[in-house]
Amino acid sequence: MKILVQKFGGTSVGDLERIENAARKVIKALEKGYKVVVVSSAMAGETDSLINLARKITDFPNEREMDVLLSTGEQKAVALFAMTLRKLGCPAVSLCGWQVPIVTDKVHTKARIKKVGTQRIRNLLEEGYVPVVAGFQGVTEDWEITTLGRGGSDTTAVALAAALGAVCEIYTDVPGVFTADPRIVPNAKKVPYISYEEMIELASLGAKVMQIRSVEFAARYGVRIHVRSSFSEEEGTWILPEEEVMEKVVVRGVTVETKESRITVVRVPDRPGIAAKIFKALGDAHIVVDMIVQNVSHDGYTDMSFTVNRAEAQKAEEIVRKVAKEIGAKEVVRDDRVAKVSIVGLGMRSSYGTAGKMFEVLARNGINIMAISTSEIKISCLIDEKYAELAVRELHEAFIEEEDIEVEKGGG
Ligand code: ASP
Ligand code: MG
Repeated sequence: MKILVQKFGGTSVGDLERIENAARKVIKALEKGYKVVVVSSAMAGETDSLINLARKITDFPNEREMDVLLSTGEQKAVALFAMTLRKLGCPAVSLCGWQVPIVTDKVHTKARIKKVGTQRIRNLLEEGYVPVVAGFQGVTEDWEITTLGRGGSDTTAVALAAALGAVCEIYTDVPGVFTADPRIVPNAKKVPYISYEEMIELASLGAKVMQIRSVEFAARYGVRIHVRSSFSEEEGTWILPEEEVMEKVVVRGVTVETKESRITVVRVPDRPGIAAKIFKALGDAHIVVDMIVQNVSHDGYTDMSFTVNRAEAQKAEEIVRKVAKEIGAKEVVRDDRVAKVSIVGLGMRSSYGTAGKMFEVLARNGINIMAISTSEIKISCLIDEKYAELAVRELHEAFIEEEDIEVEKGGG
């Protein structure tokens, strides 16, 4: 049985006309001989408006009730989707998360999938039905409704594809993954293939195509993903195991994350245990710390900086202020006007000079680097927020547009 999981995002099911458009994609796949499982998000804007309703009652809605509320968005969408398929002559049955079941842990509003039942779906497929599964929803072992975090329908789709041994199509409102955000870089190009690892880096550095957790899931189970637009027939981007990505370019994409803050602890005593104290306190408060820089020590004192997500900056600052007092640091300074620009590519593992070239491009444009962090396949620089778009454009030109020209020249 050749199974295809087709996931439709919020804009792809934004109104009844769009649901019908999505349903026709399903019928096309059936005509090609696939057995199709649909996963749908809530209609565009629905989850946000449910969140806003709850916030009108209280700033801290009970998380269990939040899940009961948010899961209604997807429940509504799958019922309408299944009705539309039936109208078009295609037998379909909608299923909520608990009916599949998608079994999760008990962490309300960001639950993780533990087990995916496949029997009911397989039976429906055998009988010639299209199962239309609500994305984003799960159920705990004691029958509580959970949700998988914002963007969680992607993870539902990938998890189902893994469990069914299927290929996973992600239908969205953009044509695929780009070498940079086309709103910033008009010359950005659609990438035909990208490895899981590159996609995970890009997604965690600001590219918002898919929920990161879904790509991690795909990597673990080798699920082949095709991200594409629901408004055209055009091929999108395949997210694949590294061995299958033909072209191993040095830099696959350039991204920027502007929702970062930098916190500096000034004049901390330079002795063992100080860094441990600061970062242990942040860890205990579940704050994710990103780039850490410790300056060279002078007369037994040093400055220590790190970045956090801006939404958590206030909380982080308060915690660090307390620790700073205890350890006798001079002061704590917070800067919210920073951005992190990054280049990502598998080829970086086996090429040299990439970091130097990146720093040179920034220097040439008068952009100062406040902190640097690297992994095997990425380099990130923290810069002043006002240069964010300039940096992306210049790096894209140097690493992606110019590389292309060289290939064309050499290829003749
Ligand atoms: N409806 C949920 C959200 O807006 C889940 C999803 O669309 O993937 O985050
Ligand atoms: Mg989404």
